[in-house]
Amino acid sequence: MPPKTIQGRRDARWGCVAWTAPLLIGVALVSYFFWPFRFSGRSICDTCAMTQRKQLYQLPLGFISWRTVYQPEQHTLLSQFLTESGAVGPHPHTWVFIQGAGNGIM
Ligand SMILES: [Zn+2]
Repeated sequence: MPPKTIQGRRDARWGCVAWTAPLLIGVALVSYFFWPFRFSGRSICDTCAMTQRKQLYQLPLGFISWRTVYQPEQHTLLSQFLTESGAVGPHPHTWVFIQGAGNGIM
């Protein structure tokens, strides 16, 4: 039963806002940390053979990503050899996708 006074209606409105805002923030936090629709992929630099992993947080069964997390670059045996022997110097990495799965893609 709705409140009959103006003050009662205002209180009811603020009560609704007081419950809705924490609920929306809670849903956003849960989605941010436990989002199940992720695509994980790995890329390799075509110059030095280092690899890099990334994780895309996507809409369910879609390709639109709303967040991308890059993990630090990792050496491979080949990239270690190329770097230590001096065959490859400092350069901007050129990442080429090599493998990935998730969010409906196996
Ligand atoms: Zn590179």
